[in-house]
Amino acid sequence: MVSKGKGFSTKAVHAGEKRDPSTGAVVAPIYETSVFAFSSTRELIDVMSEKAEGYIYTRYGNPTVRTVERKMAELEGAEDVAVFSSGMAAIATTIFTLVSSGDHVVSTRDLYGGTLAFFKDVLPKLGVEVSLVEATDFDEMKSAIRENTKVIYAETPTNPTLKLVDVSKVAKLGKKKGITVVVDSTFASPYNLKPIQFGVDVVVHSATKYLGGHNDVTAGVVGGCESFVQKLKEMRKHLGGTLDPLAAWLLLRGLKTLGLRMERHNFNGMRVARYLEKHSKVKRVYYPGLPIHPQYSIAKRQMKGFGGVVSFEIDGDFETTMKFVDNLRLCFLAASLGGTETLATQPVTCSHYFISAEDRKKAGITDQLVRLALGIEDPEDIIADLEQAFNKI
Ligand SMILES: *Cc1c(COP(=O)(O)O)cnc(C)c1O
Repeated sequence: MVSKGKGFSTKAVHAGEKRDPSTGAVVAPIYETSVFAFSSTRELIDVMSEKAEGYIYTRYGNPTVRTVERKMAELEGAEDVAVFSSGMAAIATTIFTLVSSGDHVVSTRDLYGGTLAFFKDVLPKLGVEVSLVEATDFDEMKSAIRENTKVIYAETPTNPTLKLVDVSKVAKLGKKKGITVVVDSTFASPYNLKPIQFGVDVVVHSATKYLGGHNDVTAGVVGGCESFVQKLKEMRKHLGGTLDPLAAWLLLRGLKTLGLRMERHNFNGMRVARYLEKHSKVKRVYYPGLPIHPQYSIAKRQMKGFGGVVSFEIDGDFETTMKFVDNLRLCFLAASLGGTETLATQPVTCSHYFISAEDRKKAGITDQLVRLALGIEDPEDIIADLEQAFNKI
């Protein structure tokens, strides 16, 4: 493969792609087919029994889907990757591959809402207990481990207050105890952090965010060792969270510019965080790239850049903050992150709307908190938009 041992963006462009010699097409085609035909029963049996390579049915596997999986594996530094129809399909299928009734999971209180609901509402019904600890408290995580703990599950950075988990420390803990460590690395992307290089067993992504990168595709990615991904694909067959070939192709196209986009997201993140840090109407800024971030030393150790999400508290109340958000013109009032367009939310009215006031307080989600998911626009234009909205409060 031409991209072996090359730089990140060279891999992003070339990895996983096999040019079609019959047409010379530079870009991998979309195999928009749900089924594949065989020339004989013998050939069918060879593929069924995995004696020969081939495709049978798109829920089991598809060439466009496989191309994006190969590319992602190289970008993440994983032995293999499986892609899914959404981040939640990726996460649920991963957990179902790793746990059985009677098992226990250790995770953190700061979690993506869908994952938290899955841990709190779905797993207990199947006899799997979940303990949630403070993301930044390694000792609490360690002491939550039981005899039957099968998975340690963490996110880094977390949403929306951008706490970090020391991935190498958690990976070592998992190795020592024989527990699989899973890290949701959506907020970092493989450009900024490759958890597997730090000893983490399994990395998951909502590819809807930075990987797709254009706010136009819903997908999920899971990377790990070959034997785990094999089991995961079996589970994906059963649960059916397969990625459609067209969505796989959109992800493939998005991935080619991941390095370029991440450089801009990182640059915009730092610029806007520094601007907010000095602003008289801002009380507090959350960004792992600022030396005031409580885990700045972990950020510098494990991340190449700090991403495009910046959260901050406005010096005011719920109403002032709502007014600020409603006055943004360039930045859209919308959930999600990691796309080309800048999006802004007040988490209490969006991602944390259904969370009790008490739990919000514990997680540090105040009424005055704003989350900016910076796109790749010119930072001067984003800052000008923020400034005109500040001038209205
Ligand atoms: C969005 C997100 C998810 C869920 O992904 P979907 O693609 O929306 O299913 C999981 N984890 C994190 C950190 C996310 O931001």
